[in-house]
Amino acid sequence: MLRMGLALSASLVLASCGMLETGDNAEGITNATLINAGDNNADWVTHGRTYSEQRFSPLNQVNAESVSNLGLAWFADMDTARGQEATPLVMDGRLYVTTAWSKVKAYDAATGAPLWDYDPEVPGETAVKACCDTVNRGLAAWDDKLFLGTLDGRLIALNRDSGEVEWETITVDQEQSYTVTGAPRVIDGKIIIGNGGAEFGVRGYVAAYDADNGEELWRFYTVPEGSEDDGSPEYMQAAAETWNTDALAGSDAIGGGGTVWDSMAYDPELDLLYIGVGNGSPWNRAYRSPGEDGTGEGDNLYLSSIVAIKPSTGEYVWHYQTTPGETWDYTATQHIMLADMEIEGEKRQVLMQAPKNGFFYVIDRATGEFISAKPYVSVNWASEIDENGRPVENPETRIDKTGQPALVTPGALGGHNWHPMAFHPDENLVYIPAFEAAMVYAPESDWKPDRARGFNVGFDLGAGDLPPDLGIRREIYGTVKGMLVAWDPVTQEPRWTIEHPGPWNGGLLATGGNLVFQGNSGSEFSAYNAASGDKLWSFAAQTGIVAPPITYTVDGEQYVAVLAGWGGAYAITADGELINAQKPVKNISRLLVFKLGGDAELPTEPELAALPLDPPASRASTETIALGKQKYARYCAVCHAPAAVGSTLLPDLRRSGALSNAKTWQTVVHDGALKDNGMVGFSDSMSKGEIEAIRAYVIHRANEDKTIDGAQKVASK
Ligand code: CA
Repeated sequence: MLRMGLALSASLVLASCGMLETGDNAEGITNATLINAGDNNADWVTHGRTYSEQRFSPLNQVNAESVSNLGLAWFADMDTARGQEATPLVMDGRLYVTTAWSKVKAYDAATGAPLWDYDPEVPGETAVKACCDTVNRGLAAWDDKLFLGTLDGRLIALNRDSGEVEWETITVDQEQSYTVTGAPRVIDGKIIIGNGGAEFGVRGYVAAYDADNGEELWRFYTVPEGSEDDGSPEYMQAAAETWNTDALAGSDAIGGGGTVWDSMAYDPELDLLYIGVGNGSPWNRAYRSPGEDGTGEGDNLYLSSIVAIKPSTGEYVWHYQTTPGETWDYTATQHIMLADMEIEGEKRQVLMQAPKNGFFYVIDRATGEFISAKPYVSVNWASEIDENGRPVENPETRIDKTGQPALVTPGALGGHNWHPMAFHPDENLVYIPAFEAAMVYAPESDWKPDRARGFNVGFDLGAGDLPPDLGIRREIYGTVKGMLVAWDPVTQEPRWTIEHPGPWNGGLLATGGNLVFQGNSGSEFSAYNAASGDKLWSFAAQTGIVAPPITYTVDGEQYVAVLAGWGGAYAITADGELINAQKPVKNISRLLVFKLGGDAELPTEPELAALPLDPPASRASTETIALGKQKYARYCAVCHAPAAVGSTLLPDLRRSGALSNAKTWQTVVHDGALKDNGMVGFSDSMSKGEIEAIRAYVIHRANEDKTIDGAQKVASK
């Protein structure tokens, strides 16, 4: 009955309004607004533009012919200088966007005049719980409110007109390393949000909250907690049978992972909510679900799965697991996109995903039935996905507690990460911001969990560090690729591919003007012909772009907007000077908005100041440096880059003033003197001696690099 009522009210709205030429949401966002979002070309009311998350807008004023006349209409500088990953929302001529540190800004969408801003004042020390920068990917809208998930795990309702807080609720146990970076979704007045933290030992879930008051309505856990019995939900009893749950229970429990940190999609006719589930915690299955002789066992549901649930109750309906027995950080949290298409003569309702594991999946979204999967990047962990939808694994790439390391592709950042794809219905193409970066997985035989701090992955993270040889480093970085792949989901092959100057490029937008828009790590924002991939237009953005663009109209004039600002998981862990063959990638966080004939100009690109590489002499013993290397890999590398090579985003420790002063070093690393900046103290996880060993290791590394590369390096901000 409920479903019938919903369908009826939706069709009434369609009949009375027809296609909305200009946005009119003054009465508030309703079910009908969201279900019919595809017909409202003026606005962008939900994260992926529609519930199907296709990121396709029919707008065509800016098109393959006119795009050469596209220019900057206005821009707005941001007050944060970390990764910017948000999709803006646009309603009634106003643009709303989130930034790093979970802040929100509202602008006049035509002029850029600021309307209000909101800062949830996330404590700086929260940064140490975030695997992948202090990012936020966007808002949800319902009624007269906007909804924001904050890095420290709050869900906040803001008045859309004033930016004032209407209510706020805590969605996670803040004692644990949960973070929220994803955009909430809204279904029938329920705000749906998950969380992240699978690198740190959490147990993943997604939950629904009442839009009126923040009350939690249901919670859906994705992995067992180790105490399942006959009273547990059936879907969770079934999951527990695919684990050795010993490591999940007790005081030393490892959390299990399975966080729902990004993608969701909704089919209003089937009334199914699709969630993308993340990797295991720890990554290494041999520690997470121990089997015989140091191996691991079981598929470990619902890790790396797409799960369909009822949004009204949180009831399980079906699942499809992309990577059974996940052990490589192969999340299935990547963009989930819904479309209808003819496959082998039959009209199918499909769900599509390019998860980290490198295969592009087409699934029947009504039943979860596997239709097809083919690799969209180089893959060596599996040779194929068989007709039952199960990977044919390469056993040499599955590393347990001991044995030889393996170079595995895709690596932990995946063949595609969070960066949204886009779909063009006329071309029947899915545009994938793809990525090729292999990774060394090396066993760590005496690994122990530490849920207080640091990466909990169960591998030796220092094993893949590059040697202190600039030539070799350049060569290795040269193998890391970023591509824009136009993928045909029916034939499961690329129609065309563009190779970018560097990896980790922006999310995508496709339009009725036969265009695809994308920013990139080469500090360009470009438009391509959707059919051929020919580059038709580009803009020098002065900064790497990772966020996806949107498009909207105000008074009949089309705008294209993108939040610029380099950052995220790859950006903070890679050498900022070597990422891009052409020039170092900077973060200049700025909202860029374009229209035909736009003639605004950016200020002159700032030069980044250089800090000298002038470390004290390296006098520590080989043993001390080795201990420091191990601790560095576990506790420091995720923010300050492996082998302390320094990103352009966070402090380059080789150039730190504290390096020459053991006491200052302890004040920061042990006592947490800089915790408000995100650099907490590690006294719970390491002794003073171990922290001093890290200093010795960084001094050693700085001296190595001073020898091989006298050139000054870009200073961190
Ligand atoms: Ca992960």
